[in-house]
Amino acid sequence: MCFDVSLTVQEQELVDIAQDFTAAEITPNAGDWEHDRTYPRDTQMAAAARGLGGVLVPKADGGQGVSYTAACRIFEELANGCMAFTFSMVVHNNFAMSLAANGSALLKDKFLADLIACRRIGAFLLTEPGMGSDAQAVACMARPDNDGWVLDGEKAWISSASHAGVLSIYAQTDPSKGWRGIMCFMIEAEREGVHRVGPYAMAGGHALGTGGFRFEGVRLTRDDVLLEQEAAFKGAMGGIDSARFFVGAMCTGMVSAALERSLEYVAARPAFGQKVADFQGIQWMLADVATDLEAMRLLTYSAADTWDRGGNASMAAAHAKKFATRAALTRLTDCMQVMGANGFMIDEVAARHFASAKMCQFMDGTTEIQNVVISRGLLRNR
Ligand SMILES: Cc1cc2nc3c(=O)[nH]c(=O)nc-3n(C[C@H](O)[C@H](O)[C@H](O)COP(=O)(O)OP(=O)(O)OC[C@H]3O[C@@H](n4cnc5c(N)ncnc54)[C@H](O)[C@@H]3O)c2cc1C
Repeated sequence: MCFDVSLTVQEQELVDIAQDFTAAEITPNAGDWEHDRTYPRDTQMAAAARGLGGVLVPKADGGQGVSYTAACRIFEELANGCMAFTFSMVVHNNFAMSLAANGSALLKDKFLADLIACRRIGAFLLTEPGMGSDAQAVACMARPDNDGWVLDGEKAWISSASHAGVLSIYAQTDPSKGWRGIMCFMIEAEREGVHRVGPYAMAGGHALGTGGFRFEGVRLTRDDVLLEQEAAFKGAMGGIDSARFFVGAMCTGMVSAALERSLEYVAARPAFGQKVADFQGIQWMLADVATDLEAMRLLTYSAADTWDRGGNASMAAAHAKKFATRAALTRLTDCMQVMGANGFMIDEVAARHFASAKMCQFMDGTTEIQNVVISRGLLRNR
């Protein structure tokens, strides 16, 4: 790695823990998780036992209180082994941070300690079967009823839906107000009227436990409110920039792992009386992987640094996500290519990460939505 970031001693310790945890608990098992389509709940608890369950939660609230730059390094290390497992941890850590920042004392008492310990996993419910990119078109209805609301509708494409214990649900409470009518409620997944959908069968990344929820007459009280009207949609969109550079960090981790494996392979594989590594065409393909890896790392950590300094990271995060997800898809296929047919085996890290890299082009805003953000920024005030 040419580019490095500046971290505190405590942050570096957590990155080291993440690196060791990946080598011991994630990389050896990720193939089985994918093959068996299991969600590694025990591994999540084990990660929390090492301090990785509430990295963004302030220390005063029982978390690690690290910078977003440090969180990126942690997620990069974890994704080196399995992006799907890591993304569930990213969503979960963001969820716990949002509760710490926005939740009432009552909600925090109810859920925060369990979330930091990963005794319960958090899921963020915005997307619906009929709506994704156009997030303000929420159709889930929370109809005012006496002192509270009654929730009906459906959510789709939710990370950790198969096993999440706490849900933050974005629902429309007053359609006449458009996005301003959306509120966010935080409830336990066992509440009467909450039904899980899925998990989905996808092209890969099954350790994420992706699926949906159906709500039938779910009763919500004022105690369940995480974010009020107007604040809820702004809150969902406000957190998306950091989610985008976390995706960049995960792509960096995946390509890094694949490059390492390819280098090891070509240095040992014979062809035409020499090593595959001796062919200049192979060397240059790997050099291109390394260049893109460096570029995705720079864009990702530049966006995280902007965020940590309190700047507007929207453009930087969109650049990082667009470039990193595109580069990951291309460069993972290069890593497979230099290994010949063996690179195509699903147990090989590049092949397994390949489907996950495609997944990264959808979540937290598609590539096209990153272009919407970037072009809006370019044309503002023209
Ligand atoms: C693995 C995975 C995990 C996810 N986890 C979560 C989660 O935890 N919580 C959650 O709420 N959601 C989650 N999502 C959903 C994700 O946020 C959506 O998939 C994403 O917002 C895109 O929405 P869509 O898939 O409905 O695509 P659509 O919005 O239907 O878009 C279809 C196509 O049209 C393009 N398009 C749409 N609008 C524009 C435009 N203005 N200009 C140009 N092109 C456009 C899109 O880029 C895309 O190519 C997850 C998705 C995946 C794949």
